[in-house]
Amino acid sequence: MLYLVEHFYSIQGEGKYTGRPSLFIRLGGCNMKCEGFACTETAPDGVEVLGCDTVYAVNKEHFSQNWVPINKATELLSILDLYELPDAVDVVLTGGEPLIYANDFIFIEFLNELHNNGHRICFETNGSLDVDFKKYPVYKECIFALSVKLSNSKENLRKRVNGDVIYSLATNSKEAFFKFSIDEESINLGLEVEIEDILIHSPKTEVYCMPVGGSKAEVEKNTEPLIEFCKAKGYNFSDRLHIRIWDQNKGV
Ligand code: SF4
Repeated sequence: MLYLVEHFYSIQGEGKYTGRPSLFIRLGGCNMKCEGFACTETAPDGVEVLGCDTVYAVNKEHFSQNWVPINKATELLSILDLYELPDAVDVVLTGGEPLIYANDFIFIEFLNELHNNGHRICFETNGSLDVDFKKYPVYKECIFALSVKLSNSKENLRKRVNGDVIYSLATNSKEAFFKFSIDEESINLGLEVEIEDILIHSPKTEVYCMPVGGSKAEVEKNTEPLIEFCKAKGYNFSDRLHIRIWDQNKGV
């Protein structure tokens, strides 16, 4: 069974395809917590939960009463009928971590239908969970934004960086790029070495760095130091356009 958290039709706000009209489908659950990002949100049960800016899609214990259980691929496919979409649209699968469902037959059927109907499938993933490209060739047609977590996430290194998985996703997919969330403090703490250690696993994959922040104020605070960092390292700067425009509003 899969859990659907939310869906919305907007523009991609981050990474290589910033600005592209995209249908976002957010699935519930993640293999990490990333409490280092220090975002808090009040759950339906009243508990203040610590995590990343999508903690409401990560923490099953406190937020799953708002998640919709999905038992058939058609339930996901029917989301596309709710919007006036172009014939072929970018469908961004995000979370949480969407690849926790990588072997789920409902999910595979959904991906195959999207691909067969001409849509472009883009995964927003933390890059720690592999997919079976041989068994499920649809993954070879997908784009992967590899948002590999850095030490500022406060996740264990072994859990967040798996070189074999990074290599597999980057080399077997249609396209992949790295997308790192970086704050001013981490730049000063020498995070460039961390990034270089990750890039060793796929040196030709493009790098996009975006400012950490669940709010416009936080994104703005981290933007200029990050631009200087990108200029020095030759990495691409990626804005977080949706946060800059809509701040902390969800589903836009
Ligand atoms: S991996 Fe991504 S979705 Fe999961 S907790 Fe970390 S930042 Fe949030």
